[in-house]
Amino acid sequence: MSINVAIDGPAGAGKSTISRRAAQALGFIYVDTGALYRTVGLNALRRGVDLEKPEAIAESVKGISVELKYENGEQAVFLNGENVSAFIRTPEASMAASKVSAVPAVREFLFGLQQDIAAKNDCVMDGRDIGTVVLPHAQVKIFLTASEERARRRYKELIEKGEKVEYENVLAEMKQRDYNDSNRAIAPLRAAPDAITVDTTELSLDESIEKIKNVIKENL
Ligand code: C5P
Repeated sequence: MSINVAIDGPAGAGKSTISRRAAQALGFIYVDTGALYRTVGLNALRRGVDLEKPEAIAESVKGISVELKYENGEQAVFLNGENVSAFIRTPEASMAASKVSAVPAVREFLFGLQQDIAAKNDCVMDGRDIGTVVLPHAQVKIFLTASEERARRRYKELIEKGEKVEYENVLAEMKQRDYNDSNRAIAPLRAAPDAITVDTTELSLDESIEKIKNVIKENL
């Protein structure tokens, strides 16, 4: 049986970097499920789907293919055979991901894919509903949080990537996404009852990674 570590939490708590590095240290693959929702969001944006219409979003996933592939441990995501990894990190794709993720047909569409990867591979999988819905039997579940410091970090990241953004907008967008994710009817952002909560507000990135690696080792 494969070993599964579930890491959930709000946007920008450092989930992806921490999960990736913890997975590397353990020799597991890292599965970024947000990339899947971002890809469905990108597909909807490209097709000009009205993101306020759940039926139109549900229609937009019919017949599409979304795949994850790994090269040297790096995850790439493919939409209908095209590697779209470079196109899913924009603020527009973030917001589209948040909208499409509230639609049950989208969650159903991505559910099997995530479970399949976890069944076949030792992995650290991060997202919003991994410990609660996708992998309720994961051997270790972590809920990662951080205060508004999260928005500062995300802002720095975007600026370093050369994106032209304002801090206030980054903060507002993050709050809006967390609100949407926590309040949707299906698979809302929640800590699983058996999750270990780790707050990274006061920790540097390296300290956070160390902390998560220890929590995983102690609980496996
Ligand atoms: O983690 P990331 O910020 O890339 O996720 C983008 C969006 O995808 C989230 O705001 C959330 O709406 C959605 N998501 C989700 N369930 C997951 C992972 C991501 O609903 N397991």
